Amino acid sequence: VIAESPACPATVGDLAPVLPVVGHETLAPLVDGRRVPYANLDVAASAPALQAVGDRITATLPLYASVHRGAGYLSQVSTTLYEQSRATIGAFVGARDDDVTLLVRNTTDALNLLAGCVPASDDGTPGRVLVLDVEHHANFLPWQRSADATVLTGRDTVAATVAAIRDELAAAHAAGRGYALLAVTGASNVTGETLPVDDVVAAAHAHGARVLLDGAQLVPHRRFSLAATGVDYLAFSGHKTYAPFGVGALVGRRDWLDAGTPYLAGGGAVRSVRVAETEWHDGPARHEAGSPNVLGAVALAAACDELAALDAANLREHEDALRARLVDGLEAIDGVEVVRLWSDAPDTVGVVTFTVAGYEPGQVAAYLSAEHGIGVRDGRFCAHPLLSRLGYGAGAVRSSVGVGTAGEEVERLVAAVAALVADGP
Ligand code: PLP
Repeated sequence: VIAESPACPATVGDLAPVLPVVGHETLAPLVDGRRVPYANLDVAASAPALQAVGDRITATLPLYASVHRGAGYLSQVSTTLYEQSRATIGAFVGARDDDVTLLVRNTTDALNLLAGCVPASDDGTPGRVLVLDVEHHANFLPWQRSADATVLTGRDTVAATVAAIRDELAAAHAAGRGYALLAVTGASNVTGETLPVDDVVAAAHAHGARVLLDGAQLVPHRRFSLAATGVDYLAFSGHKTYAPFGVGALVGRRDWLDAGTPYLAGGGAVRSVRVAETEWHDGPARHEAGSPNVLGAVALAAACDELAALDAANLREHEDALRARLVDGLEAIDGVEVVRLWSDAPDTVGVVTFTVAGYEPGQVAAYLSAEHGIGVRDGRFCAHPLLSRLGYGAGAVRSSVGVGTAGEEVERLVAAVAALVADGP
């Protein structure tokens, strides 16, 4: 029905995934007593692992042992694998020679770690951090809790938002109360929209502030480079970057990280321990106490290898086509509203959030799952301040796509929402 409507653009039903993901062919939930292929349109929450990542994990399973702790053959292999993975992950995001690549659990972990390393202001009070109200809670609560955080309300356009950031940084700097850090999203987890990174970095650096980019939704979808953009710190998650849970990275300037209180106290983080005093390591070891997640690091490095080998334009075209079809297809349905943050975002990754008049978001998500075998996310997406400001305090439905998404899955979602509306509440 949707494909025949003159208001609708061409379908993307024949677009194949760019890279194979584990389980795509085999997952088939029961719908009305018959098996239907699972359409995973919730990759912004957690993306399925790439097949190549699964293969690398299987190959590494027999090889892991203690890291940085043993002289045995497997310990050496494991240590090499772990450190090679660190180097691959850092290189994937354009780490500068002097940057540190810390392997952590996820973006949340990375941001909490960095929050403990923001230097105090000259008067000894916690360092000042500027954040927008558009952030995921992971890039909001750590600053609210451990730094002197100021929350800036996003404006209706990107241009006005960047101007507001610039004005606030300039005014604080001129008043002698300059910000240490601007913590900002790389791509919104609610709308997929991005800010112009170069402008944001220029504004911050002009007024003595560093920039932390929350790359959780950006890194899996766009080629990003710390060296090329001048961003000071980048955080991202393995499970959104086509590797499994339990690994993520914080990459960035060494000085704050080497001076900061070690994130975890324990074995591996110290040079020497006496009863009365401890000498902590610097570099990655300082913050990575305890036995590390070798398989996670190997898996994330494998995902980075796969994404790096892709033609960046190809990756972008695929996701842009799927996203455009979702937006156009959904907006052509009566009563469906697509959530937008700005009207002039320079780029938007594959996230499309919407509401359906007459239905609670949870009802729509349950219907898509139970009657069509389609997985989406509903709720407020760990971005309560933003959803409230935009007038979606009751939540919305989020669909999202990636390298493993087939066009046919997107068509199924559009057709299913059209059928829901046609049938009426
Ligand atoms: N930042 C953004 C933009 C996100 O989308 C998410 C997860 O949804 C996070 C941070 C937190 O990521 P994680 O749960 O992997 O720590």
